[in-house]
Amino acid sequence: MIKDKVVIITGASSGIGEATARLLASRGAKVVLGARRADKLKTIADDIVQGGGEAVYQELDVTTQTDNNAIVALAKEKFGRVDVMFLNAGIMPNSSLSALKTNEWHQMVDVNIKGVLYGLAAVLPTFVEQKSGQVIATSSVAGLKAYPGGAVYGGTKWFVRNFLEVLRMESAMEGTNIRTTNIYPAAINTELLGTISDPSLSDAMSKIYDQYGISPDRIASVVEYAVDAPEDTTINEFTVGPANQP
Ligand code: NDP
Repeated sequence: MIKDKVVIITGASSGIGEATARLLASRGAKVVLGARRADKLKTIADDIVQGGGEAVYQELDVTTQTDNNAIVALAKEKFGRVDVMFLNAGIMPNSSLSALKTNEWHQMVDVNIKGVLYGLAAVLPTFVEQKSGQVIATSSVAGLKAYPGGAVYGGTKWFVRNFLEVLRMESAMEGTNIRTTNIYPAAINTELLGTISDPSLSDAMSKIYDQYGISPDRIASVVEYAVDAPEDTTINEFTVGPANQP
């Protein structure tokens, strides 16, 4: 059942996070939106509320623990509990290793790894107290298969895969009843390519996305499925991409 579930979504200001917020809210979820661009969050939350749904938002930089703690606090203050944490915020400044874009390596580790850890740390005590909760995360096919330019990004997404699987196992062993779902998207048309600073790599990836990319609504649909799953069932993972992408 999705109706009345309280769902926190990181990276809700565009792409997959925005599409998921709109879909889950249309199914009756109470969505709590976080990202750095508060103006975009406001527009999305206003749309949802005007359409009869429930949404609140708060500026969130996932690289800080205080922001992650604050958005969980907002969810509990407004809606009394948290049912789902969708750890979705991410960046993909791909580059070849020889370019030595070390600042971007740090940024990816901060957002894609530490952001996920801080999000979990913020919500886990609530899930343990409630004796229930669901963590959904956006990994990537880049976490399953290496490709040139994706050394660090793929590493961060492999981390997401490993992290969530360990959470699932430890939760089962400890009896905390936390369900996990890992999503591995392929080419999805969002703003993500805008994080690539290398023009030749950006051009090459844009061509792939122009040819194959599909709507973020497709990923929202699998999140919907996972949230809707019976409480005794974990949907461990989805790999989702364009039907015609090799
Ligand atoms: P978008 O760029 O459209 O969305 C990324 C979101 O992350 C934005 O809402 C952005 O918001 C947010 N974000 C970035 N940095 C931070 C930060 N420091 N703190 C909080 N929020 C942040 O791309 P997608 O929707 O595609 O990306 C969503 C996830 O999907 C990412 O984890 C990405 O790696 C993953 N993914 C995407 C694929 C694709 O083909 N599009 C394929 C595989 C995985 P703001 O800038 O406002 O902070």
